[in-house]
Amino acid sequence: MAKKDEKGITVAKEKNLIEWYNQVVTKAELADFAPIHGFMVIRPNGYAIWEKIQQYFDNRIKKLGVRNAYFPLLIPERFFVKEAEHAEGFEPEVAWLERQNKKEEKLAIRPTSETIIYDIYSKWIRSWRDLPLLINQWCNVVRWEIKQTRLFLRTREFLWQEGHCAFATAEEAKENVLKMLEEYAKLCEELLAIPVIKGKKSEFERFAGAVETYTIEALMPDGKALQMGTSHFLGQNFSKAFEIKFVGKDEKEHYVWQSCWGATTRLIGAVILVHGDNKGLVLPPKIAERKAVIVPIIFEKDKEKVIEKCKEIEKKLKRFNAFADLREEYTAGWKFNEWELKGIPIRVEIGPKEVKEKTAVVVIRDTNEKKTVKEKDIVRIVEEELNKMQKRLFEKAKKFLEENVVEAKSWAEFKKAIKERKMVLAPFCNTEQCEEKIQEETKATSRCIPLNQKEGKYKCIKCGREARIKAYFARGY
Ligand SMILES: [Zn+2]
Repeated sequence: MAKKDEKGITVAKEKNLIEWYNQVVTKAELADFAPIHGFMVIRPNGYAIWEKIQQYFDNRIKKLGVRNAYFPLLIPERFFVKEAEHAEGFEPEVAWLERQNKKEEKLAIRPTSETIIYDIYSKWIRSWRDLPLLINQWCNVVRWEIKQTRLFLRTREFLWQEGHCAFATAEEAKENVLKMLEEYAKLCEELLAIPVIKGKKSEFERFAGAVETYTIEALMPDGKALQMGTSHFLGQNFSKAFEIKFVGKDEKEHYVWQSCWGATTRLIGAVILVHGDNKGLVLPPKIAERKAVIVPIIFEKDKEKVIEKCKEIEKKLKRFNAFADLREEYTAGWKFNEWELKGIPIRVEIGPKEVKEKTAVVVIRDTNEKKTVKEKDIVRIVEEELNKMQKRLFEKAKKFLEENVVEAKSWAEFKKAIKERKMVLAPFCNTEQCEEKIQEETKATSRCIPLNQKEGKYKCIKCGREARIKAYFARGY
């Protein structure tokens, strides 16, 4: 029989977050390192989380009239170079396909699909009647990372969705950009129980080819920020490069206005980092595929009755996708550890005493609270506890965020706060030069310029020149 220490997490989250993270990802069987450097295998436990994210988001965007489509994996070089800033921004990360026939055109594996999609849009869009065009694609992309691989957080291939919309007016496109930012925030807060800060990226951090990039940022336990989703206003940059024109109601030709937006399997990494504990994964109930496990406490004498009862409870809790773990080769204690490691939100224990008294013991994953409940109340109580847990995880993460965001009044304060792993709000001149200096000295980057702030007259935290806005800074993933 396997022992606990062969499977459990052996390093404390507070002590070594990265080692802890790697253990949770691999031991909870969420993902594995692929035999190709920088690539990952998403295992069923991890993929089930992605499916929950997909279902939620897909449902939301369809309500907004967005439809799914699929575009090719490969992008001809001539498309890639059309929007100069875009090409320059992505060039270092592009994987090119190498083939026998050197006379054929070079092909890139998509790092993102603007160019191939917009070439096709130029054929599809003819008149104002074709607008708005609202399309999303669920797919994989490849970006040739050189930094160390972190499963879900930084891999050369990852899964994502990319929405690409075209409109007749700038206003509609801008409205869509902010609407989608809101959707990403909702996805993180309502589904993943992770609070986010919404804002605009600095000039330096903007998506290559965009006029404006909006982002939602979350704070990880080590004080590093993680970008959870981005939404870009592309203006007419791509429509001019790809000749996406339409005849308006005025019977004149116009270039379309565009938005694009994306979120990736990185979100799974954030869930692990934010909610996990020293026993392993903690899943917010809404993204747990199986929300409850029923474990029999077996003694030879009443074995049959206990197993019978577990099956009954399993049926009762079917709507939570509950399952009875009736494996005979493992002890109850071993099963407790396994399902805690894998993040099942609720454990129900049934032994001879519970059978006799028509009760069950309910154990909550994040608080470890144990409750004896009457069998007839179990569905209601499990439902209540799942709802409470979802809220509790969000509140806990929100408290952490609030406690770890500080405002800096001087460069010395700024440096100290970054060193103490805080996220820092500070006046910023929003120049590339200053951003680079800040990064050189502190490793922190600007995460976002919060939305809806009134412009003021400040002095940039680094250079002292006039600054009209404040921005959040932190080290990033
Ligand atoms: Zn400055």
